Amino acid sequence: MSWLGESAALACLTFDVDAEAPILVESGLYARNAGVMSHQAYGPLVGVPRILDLLREYSLPATFFVPGWTADRYPKVVEAILSAGHEVGHHSYAHKSPFALIEDEERADFERALASLRAIGAEPKGFRCPSWEPGWRTPQIVADYGLEYDSSLMDSDKPYVLDTGAGEIVELPVHWSLDDWEQYAYIPDPPFRSAIEAPTKVLDLWTSELDAMRRYGCLFVLTCHPFLSGRPHRVEVLRTLIDRALAFGDVEFVGCAEAARRAREDANIERKTLTPVIVEPGLYPE
Ligand SMILES: [Zn+2]
Repeated sequence: MSWLGESAALACLTFDVDAEAPILVESGLYARNAGVMSHQAYGPLVGVPRILDLLREYSLPATFFVPGWTADRYPKVVEAILSAGHEVGHHSYAHKSPFALIEDEERADFERALASLRAIGAEPKGFRCPSWEPGWRTPQIVADYGLEYDSSLMDSDKPYVLDTGAGEIVELPVHWSLDDWEQYAYIPDPPFRSAIEAPTKVLDLWTSELDAMRRYGCLFVLTCHPFLSGRPHRVEVLRTLIDRALAFGDVEFVGCAEAARRAREDANIERKTLTPVIVEPGLYPE
């Protein structure tokens, strides 16, 4: 049985509940700025409950990738996600990009996040790398800790089995064009200065990709951040996207763990190994 089943495309609605962490990665001094901290707190405090209401209305599954930082600071929000029946995935502890860490630092952050998520009853089956900036060893660490899938790479638009060298995981590929950060993230300081796009433009972008993915039999992984997509008109973008996806009649919404399970059980699924890029000294500037 193909991972697609009878559908033309599968869709995963994913929400990265980053809260303050991606701002503090730029500098811990931003903790003094109550303004930007409040901008980030909107995600767990307002965005997540509103998104949970939308998902409840349509009886759709979703996957929430939660940094350990968020789990420690907003445990009741994560409990609400779990009690609504949604999947909680691993999204690091401090939202640091692994490619810039040494291995001991990366493993310590990974373990701290696992401990925080487990302390409130979440048992993550998958990992999404902060900022989609893994190192070459990151998939091995995901496999080492017994997780079943990753959702951070961009070298396909269909799920595949990745042999990490430390065990196999399923990769659920992502893309910047299906991330709300590029559409909405305007923060003056630290300078995350994307344009604040109109909902009609964003809806067209995402719906067009989903429509085309039906022709090519793809996995539509939408990545949203509750501090961005939790705002009223942006929740309506999600609502209309869901309406259009359902109207297609051949798109099924699944959680990420379920998409990974179907991929693993597909005898014809593509299989890959990691092939790190090695640069000879002097060829490129450092
Ligand atoms: Zn994130």
